[in-house]
Amino acid sequence: MSTPLEKENHSATTPLAPSDLNNPLTFPTFWGLPPEYESNDIDLYSTKPRKHWCFLGKIVSSSVLVRLALEVEDKEGHRLLVAFHTDDRGAAFLDQCKEGHTIAVLYATQHTFAFSPPGLRLEQDAHVKVFPYSLDDMLEASRELFEKGMGKRCEGCDKTETPLRKCSACNGAWYCSRTGCWPAHKRRCPVLKEIQWFTRKNWENSVHQYFFPRHLGGWHAHQHSRNALPSMLQACGF
Ligand SMILES: [Zn+2]
Ligand SMILES: [Zn+2]
Repeated sequence: MSTPLEKENHSATTPLAPSDLNNPLTFPTFWGLPPEYESNDIDLYSTKPRKHWCFLGKIVSSSVLVRLALEVEDKEGHRLLVAFHTDDRGAAFLDQCKEGHTIAVLYATQHTFAFSPPGLRLEQDAHVKVFPYSLDDMLEASRELFEKGMGKRCEGCDKTETPLRKCSACNGAWYCSRTGCWPAHKRRCPVLKEIQWFTRKNWENSVHQYFFPRHLGGWHAHQHSRNALPSMLQACGF
């Protein structure tokens, strides 16, 4: 585990790749996001190349009143409110928003709420995704991906000369036959696989607006939760 100072020194010598989840421009903290009124200028449907960004935060707690609302902590430990103003008021994400999981919000902006400190007001389902991994694990996996690269080297013991096999699940990591090398990767493999959605994108000058893909499993969960939220709301007296 490196100290913040070491990280700072490191980034001073080696600029972080734009698609590295640790890059503060592509993956900003809350205060690094554009304020909502400024983002009116950002034409998401423009055909000109433009910059893309995504907010990443750790889910601290969730509550359901009129809508799903989360307390979220950004990369620097700042806590903020994330309120679902999507069509179904967050029902699609109800089951996934567990403490310690990570929420990603494409094109997030600072929103000023009437009765609480600034936070995120989510409007589009397709710009939101919850990952069942901790933010630390995702940042760490990304750091390793960019520092070590996906070079032909055993992820467990760092050896390059022994016969190596490539992991077909994440299609990136290599491992050797030594005891412990495969299990070492197996634990990290799902995170590594998942973050490649971010790390393989052009965040600097693509013309395409990005959306998170809807997985089949997520859709079933959605159908289930869509029924769950109204009854929860009724229980709350709404
Ligand atoms: Zn090995
Ligand atoms: Zn793998």
